[in-house]
Amino acid sequence: MGIVAAAGSGLRLGADRPKALVPLAGRPLVRWAVDALRAGGVRDVVVVVPAEERPAFAAVLPDDVVLVDGGATRTASVRAGLAAAGERADVVLVHDAARPLTPPDVVARVIEALAAGARAVVPVLPVVDTTVVVRADGVISGALPREELRRVQTPQGFDRATLVDAYGRLPAGVELTDDAAVVHTIGVPVATVAGDERAAKVTVGHDLELAELQVRR
Ligand code: C5P
Repeated sequence: MGIVAAAGSGLRLGADRPKALVPLAGRPLVRWAVDALRAGGVRDVVVVVPAEERPAFAAVLPDDVVLVDGGATRTASVRAGLAAAGERADVVLVHDAARPLTPPDVVARVIEALAAGARAVVPVLPVVDTTVVVRADGVISGALPREELRRVQTPQGFDRATLVDAYGRLPAGVELTDDAAVVHTIGVPVATVAGDERAAKVTVGHDLELAELQVRR
């Protein structure tokens, strides 16, 4: 089953509504994200939304999607989604609503890796830029070995019981930016599959312009 995290405000996008409701080629980002999961082989979907926006999300999503109120952070939102997901499925894919154009192949690769026995799997891409650590005063303190670095995307796939266990043991107040980081805290190995540039996250206005171009192609 799938959990779509869509409860962010999208401040960096500067839109007049939650980011997941911002339209891309006339369809809200969250709808693209749900459709992408389904095109890749996921059937049951829980969408985590900002509590006060529930009706607006219900209006743009398929009737069989379950809506859940999110929290103040991504970690809190996925926690809520997992609780609502119950024990219906053996595996769960957690996806960002902010990655609307994720190709079905990426979803399928994650599902395949889980079927092959991985307890946790994430799509990744190489880092093409030289990547450095910068001190508070703006001066570089060191470079990271680019060959070993990867950018992590979603959907991230998990054995459901493992993910529930990891969230259950994560101390309150610890906020992580993805779910692989949560299972990593309990020592579960996280496998990788190839990600895709088209699964890029829409964060700032430029990302949305790129996504519009991608749809037109
Ligand atoms: O902020 P960030 O880009 O990391 O958000 C990634 C995803 O997590 C987005 O799809 C966003 O809607 C979701 N999110 C959430 N609840 C929050 C914050 C972010 O579901 N409180």
